Parts: sequence; structure tokens; C-alpha cells
Amino acid sequence: MDRAFGTLTIPFDKLFNLKNVNSKIPEYAKIFDSVNCSVCGESTMINKTKKNTNQEHICFTCGGYEYGILDGNGIFCKC
Ligand SMILES: [Zn+2]
Repeated sequence: MDRAFGTLTIPFDKLFNLKNVNSKIPEYAKIFDSVNCSVCGESTMINKTKKNTNQEHICFTCGGYEYGILDGNGIFCKC
């Protein structure tokens, strides 16, 4: 606790290295059509589904497929 609050008393230029940089801004995420999962009925981006043998769209959760999830701790596999 003391260390955390002590950080607030350190001058900005001692904590950070401020400089101009050139960075490439990533493109917007691609937009996909949505379909309803044939099991749960939830509207799901088509690229987050797989077709079953009857050509019905199944979301990854209902199909039990592996997929990545991004949260505050990073990307992990939902298996
Ligand atoms: Zn589903």
C-alpha cells in the first residue's frame, strides 16, 4: 500500500519515458453476417459457427469446438 501511494509522489519524467513514435493503426475488424445457432438460437457471427451434417449453423459453444477468448488476462483457449 505504501509503495503504491509512494508512486504518486514520483515525478512524471522519472516514471515515464515520453517520446513521439510512428505507429501503424490496425484496420477495423472485419464485419461478418450473423446467423442463428440451430441449437441455442443465439445470433452468432457466421465465422464463429460451423455447419453440421444437415448444413445448419452451430455456434462454437453448442458444438463443443475450441475457440479463443480475450479477457483482461490475455487470450486463452475455451475448450
Ligand atoms: Zn449455440
